[in-house]
Amino acid sequence: MNIMVCIKQVPASSEVKIDPVTGNLIRDGKNVKLNPFDLFALEAAFQINEQIGGSIHALTMGPDSAIRVLKEAIYMGADKGTVISDRKFAGADVLATAYTISQMIDHIGNFDLVICGKQTTDGDTAQVGPEIAENLTIPHVPYVKEILEVYEDYVVVRSGYDTHDEIVKVTLPALLTIEKDANTPRLPSYKRKKAFKDSDINIIRFNDLKDQTLEHYGLLGSPTQVEEMFSPDTKLDSKAIKGDAKTMAKGLFDVLKESQFI
Ligand SMILES: Cc1cc2nc3c(=O)[nH]c(=O)nc-3n(C[C@H](O)[C@H](O)[C@H](O)COP(=O)(O)OP(=O)(O)OC[C@H]3O[C@@H](n4cnc5c(N)ncnc54)[C@H](O)[C@@H]3O)c2cc1C
Repeated sequence: MNIMVCIKQVPASSEVKIDPVTGNLIRDGKNVKLNPFDLFALEAAFQINEQIGGSIHALTMGPDSAIRVLKEAIYMGADKGTVISDRKFAGADVLATAYTISQMIDHIGNFDLVICGKQTTDGDTAQVGPEIAENLTIPHVPYVKEILEVYEDYVVVRSGYDTHDEIVKVTLPALLTIEKDANTPRLPSYKRKKAFKDSDINIIRFNDLKDQTLEHYGLLGSPTQVEEMFSPDTKLDSKAIKGDAKTMAKGLFDVLKESQFI
């Protein structure tokens, strides 16, 4: 089956730099890695096609330097990689990101399944996958913990929620988002690295897309915008209230009253 796997380049450390004026994350392409959740998405695709055959296309939206994560996916087992990159996509929130990726998928065409990670380690919203599916008007199953059965025209998966799991049969084309620990991701192979290190990565620009309305992309297409970014104050006052339960309860009551919380 033809599978597209969406993968994202994320900061490799928690010490990310924020542009103080725009509030945007500074993505300089240096200290970055493949979003850990996307390793499970890639592995799910590899396992499906080991059963049924087909091709795996890794996709990413980001700066041109995001090619690096596409190469990593190819060294793990993907057949090809495409990055969508253009200054016009800068400052995209979740809505604009998902819209841009769905335009990219529409432009490439010919897919049976789109697989995403459950969430990223930088944005963390877990909304991009479901929003891509809505834009493509295909069904989706989020939080997939296990792929149970795979056929040419449908898959059966176990999807996990807080208190219960569901077994879902979904007709293709469809989109899945894969939970952490749904499988054991493979490492990039040295043999594949040697064989495919010079393989070409496709690049898609704004002008290639069907929808040329600028207001649907980047900052212009983002209803949510960051007003201010700041580090939380870690030097907070603290006070220990000691004594028996009654004394501590009274002490806490007095502090809350003094601070006008009650
Ligand atoms: C209110 C708000 C404002 C924001 N403003 C800005 C901003 O001004 N500038 C800025 O740089 N960022 C901004 N962001 C972050 C940006 O929107 C997210 O990086 C982006 O939408 C992806 O969302 P996420 O990381 O939460 O992905 P999630 O929904 O957590 O990701 C789920 C899965 O979707 C796929 N996916 C997600 N993103 C990509 C991608 N780029 N390429 C391929 N696959 C992908 C992956 O499979 C991933 O595992 C903002 C976010 C919010 C919530």
